[in-house]
Amino acid sequence: MQQSDYIKLEEKYGAHNYKPLDVVIERGEGVWVWDVDGNKYMDCLSAYSAVNQGHCHPRIRQAMIDQLQKLTLTSRAFRNDQLGLFYEELCALTNSHKVLPMNSGAEAVETAIKAVRKWGYEVKGVPEDRAEIIVCGDNFHGRTISIVSFSTDLGSRRGFGPFTPGFKIIPFGNAGALEATITPNTVAFLVEPIQGEAGVIIPPEGYLKEVREICTANNITLILDEIQTGLGRTGKLLAEEHEGIEADITLVGKALSGGFYPVSAVLSNTEVLGVLRPGEHGSTFGGNPLACAVAREAIKVLVEENLIVNAADMGQRFLAGLERIKNSKIKEVRGRGLLIAVEFKPSAGGARKYCEQLKENGLLCKETHDNIIRFAPPLVINSEQVDWALDRISESLSS
Ligand SMILES: *Cc1c(COP(=O)(O)O)cnc(C)c1O
Repeated sequence: MQQSDYIKLEEKYGAHNYKPLDVVIERGEGVWVWDVDGNKYMDCLSAYSAVNQGHCHPRIRQAMIDQLQKLTLTSRAFRNDQLGLFYEELCALTNSHKVLPMNSGAEAVETAIKAVRKWGYEVKGVPEDRAEIIVCGDNFHGRTISIVSFSTDLGSRRGFGPFTPGFKIIPFGNAGALEATITPNTVAFLVEPIQGEAGVIIPPEGYLKEVREICTANNITLILDEIQTGLGRTGKLLAEEHEGIEADITLVGKALSGGFYPVSAVLSNTEVLGVLRPGEHGSTFGGNPLACAVAREAIKVLVEENLIVNAADMGQRFLAGLERIKNSKIKEVRGRGLLIAVEFKPSAGGARKYCEQLKENGLLCKETHDNIIRFAPPLVINSEQVDWALDRISESLSS
């Protein structure tokens, strides 16, 4: 089969809810992937930061094989010998008290919304069905109905109403707006420490610290969605560490399995998760032994292979290299760790053509919001590979 044959099948039988680059990948290793014709590319998207540990990491793969030869799924009707260890290790790593395991990122967000609403009624004393959650404009938290109910992106919302009530939207990066929007019925503030899908939007310095203080002062749960920024991506284990704060609820997913399996989790350092009792929430696959064994190894790899420090170092090198590129159509280069973006001016006519050019030169990237390219290679990248990428980016973006 040719690449075009695979593409035709996808187009014919699949729902067209994505617009991928036309590259059909069949193999991956570390920062590299190969298409069905044997062409080699550097993956600069890392499945939206799900493969931070690199493609098909041998240690995680072995852990997965070992576990799948023994036991894959019991449901939570019974206990399994991986779940408790997963909880313990994840709590130790993230300094959390409790974990609720789910599968996708969106499910972790939904779980947090349910938990803080219940906490609002049972602990804070908010009148029944009046709980309010404050979120930010240009957020990305997933694709379910309740989550797109508080999206400000037209494409994410249009045609999907009626929407879930109970959310208030304020501008990102504006702590004053948070303070002004709080009412006695506010139960939580849900925010990304850096807005990834919006185009790597980094809030003003001190924002998270202020947000932390406002939430504490008003008895509001601070929920940080670290599904993209967490697990080493920004050069810290969690992006909250850049401002020395701790969220009440932290959401992780994506790289929690190193890309082998959908695993997400709600982490809590308060008693918010304590309000959930048997029968009130769950998931058939959430916390299954295969997921737990994979995630346990994936987080060990992050720490033991020093990937978090490497993300900080390589991120600096990558960013500095991008800043040296001369192209009058570039508006801004920004990033933290290996979560980096190049934003073009409107006159550039969109970033897609640069992504196509980068693909021709052996780099896979995806535009976000028309005029932004995100560079987020696996955290296993080394300095030679960063320089290799910079040479090609420079060539593709200077033309
Ligand atoms: C990807 C992402 C999600 C949703 O995760 P899925 O696994 O795609 O449901 C939520 N929040 C953020 C910040 C994300 O980047």
